[in-house]
Amino acid sequence: MRRFTAHAIAGLAVFAAWGSPASATECKDPAKALGVSRIVEIDTANGPMFGAVTKRDTEERFLADDEVVLTFDDGPVPWVTGPILDTLDAFCTKATFFPVGRMAISRPALVKDILARGHTLGGHTWSHPNNLRRLSRDKAVDQIERGFAAVALAAGTDIAPFFRFPGLNDSDELLDYLQGRNIASFTVDVISNDSFISSPKAIAERTLRLTTAQRGGILLFHDLKRPTARALPAILAGLKARGFKVVHLVPKAPATPLATLDAELQPILAKAKPSALVPIYGSPAQARTREGDRPRVTTLAPEPRARSREAQAAAGAAKTAGAP
Ligand SMILES: [Zn+2]
Repeated sequence: MRRFTAHAIAGLAVFAAWGSPASATECKDPAKALGVSRIVEIDTANGPMFGAVTKRDTEERFLADDEVVLTFDDGPVPWVTGPILDTLDAFCTKATFFPVGRMAISRPALVKDILARGHTLGGHTWSHPNNLRRLSRDKAVDQIERGFAAVALAAGTDIAPFFRFPGLNDSDELLDYLQGRNIASFTVDVISNDSFISSPKAIAERTLRLTTAQRGGILLFHDLKRPTARALPAILAGLKARGFKVVHLVPKAPATPLATLDAELQPILAKAKPSALVPIYGSPAQARTREGDRPRVTTLAPEPRARSREAQAAAGAAKTAGAP
């Protein structure tokens, strides 16, 4: 059974809200460009879940063979995120960033730069407790909500209702919560292990080996340590050489951060001195597009489904009871 409907949509007006159109940038070096082969617009109603590294019942893989999605967690850090943004620009490609809220709100200029260069921003909690399961439900929910509110405030505009659990440590009740808030959760398919590998060459080799073995997928990196930034040019060149295509994710509708948290976070943002943090890397002007040069857009609208084990069991029982 198909679990989602995918259809091409005409027109790209929907992306006006997302800053620079994703891809079709005028590349400085077209020969080097990895580019964006298509855009997937995700309807996050009912909190779909994507990625293979989980025992959960997730949505079907929406990527074709040899398609990849680039994701970066745990930033932003100027001396890592900045060079990563430059490398993505140099390869004319787009990624999704899952920043840590308290880091994002202290570096609003960098967060704005991520958006200005056409990438997608989601949430990854306020302060990155490695296992939300160990917190009370209230504290864990606050981490999730405060994270989104902080990134959105730093961005100064809408962000995506895309979430990644720190350490991929989800729980039934938090997945239920995300579903109620229409937030999509992302695990991964390929783990670069860049948090634990200090050699850029080793990060690149591992990533390319695993990506090739799995014929693509959602790739996980961290814009936190320099080796990742140093490995990225070889990774993107390697992906291009092997024929991989980059898929850029955008949301159908923006995240809806809680306004109550904005009031608490505003004083932190006010102290961030954005003028002192204006990034010096690259130029958003590169995101100019040419008509007719845009990647295909497909919309992904997964059917509602029970996520928690308890809810799945109840749904299964109901189905059995209703069976002829
Ligand atoms: Zn993380």
